[in-house]
Amino acid sequence: MTATPDPAPLRLPVRPELAHEEPYGAPQLDVPVLLNVNENPYRPSDAVVASIASAVADAAVTLNRYPDREFRTLRTALGAYLERESGVGGLDADHLWAANGSNEVMLHLLQAFGGPGRTALSFAPTYSMYPEYARDTNTAWVAGRREEDFTLDVDVAARLIEEVRPAVVLLPSPNNPTGTALPLDTVRRLLDVARTSGPDGAATVLVIDEAYAEFRREGVPSALELLASNPHLAVSRTMSKAFGMAGARVGYLAAAPALVDALRVVRLPYHLSAVTQAVALAALAHTDELMAQVASLRAERDELATWLLEHGLDAVPSDANFVLFGRFRDRHAVWQGLLDAGILVRETGPDGWLRVSVGTPQETAAFKAALVEVLA
Ligand code: PMP
Repeated sequence: MTATPDPAPLRLPVRPELAHEEPYGAPQLDVPVLLNVNENPYRPSDAVVASIASAVADAAVTLNRYPDREFRTLRTALGAYLERESGVGGLDADHLWAANGSNEVMLHLLQAFGGPGRTALSFAPTYSMYPEYARDTNTAWVAGRREEDFTLDVDVAARLIEEVRPAVVLLPSPNNPTGTALPLDTVRRLLDVARTSGPDGAATVLVIDEAYAEFRREGVPSALELLASNPHLAVSRTMSKAFGMAGARVGYLAAAPALVDALRVVRLPYHLSAVTQAVALAALAHTDELMAQVASLRAERDELATWLLEHGLDAVPSDANFVLFGRFRDRHAVWQGLLDAGILVRETGPDGWLRVSVGTPQETAAFKAALVEVLA
């Protein structure tokens, strides 16, 4: 009797461009001081927790039903919040969109406007998820360069947009990991270029990712001001940072209704669960309280940047809740030294730099003490 030969091992038909990819994500380590993913260090108060619990209990009663697919109540509340925060009015439900984190909002943007034969563009160093949205939607990816000081040269950027003709440009302001905000004049100029720089003479969708906007310094405006005259502008925000709701996964954007309608086509049905909607609405009702810490986090950030400079280090001027600092010949050794002292920062950005999120005063003090030790 002849033995049947072993069948060839089964191979999964993973897309070739994904075959050697690792899932994205910063290490989630159990250490006392977490300053690595730009979270808000302050937990929701007992009053906020009680409101959320009660809203979730109400939502739980109808969980046999699919959630409100259009979530217009939440979209209206987000528009009202943006008006309060930025002074820009007229942002009703038709101008708002939301999803499970601004990560998903931006994936929707690439699903709607990117795709095979199209290109998304940004300027490095920048948020490392952008190329992943492009990869996952089969959109070509081009990264221009920021200047040495991490600002954007508007002429260089405008030329690259005209040359690449991207369907989507992703520009964070403030930028991650550098904390650098974009002047409104730069956004205005790029919006002008973008009117016809997309595929086949269409517009390029310019996404200003304002995940950290609430932390911007006095006098730095929001790109929301430019929405009324620019149907190809999308301003993305999140409840993960200033609101301290990273665990709830709620991101959103404001744009012209036609742009929002394009996102409604690509979203999965019922993508925003009834629980998520309830949590977001309950949190928005406590805006004042949740945002109370933003001013102190801003002050803490400025103080931290000054401290780093006074200690002979470089610190990039920041409009966000983190500071990029350096420069180290062996940044990994510094990162490891801090971790050994129970402090987790992020090894990201150009070589030689590390990024630290602004924590509570106690956490910042622990970070400073550990850094002094590590560099001694
Ligand atoms: N944009 C930028 C620039 C970010 O840094 C982050 C998170 N680190 C996000 C978007 C996504 O945040 P979320 O999905 O939590 O809204």
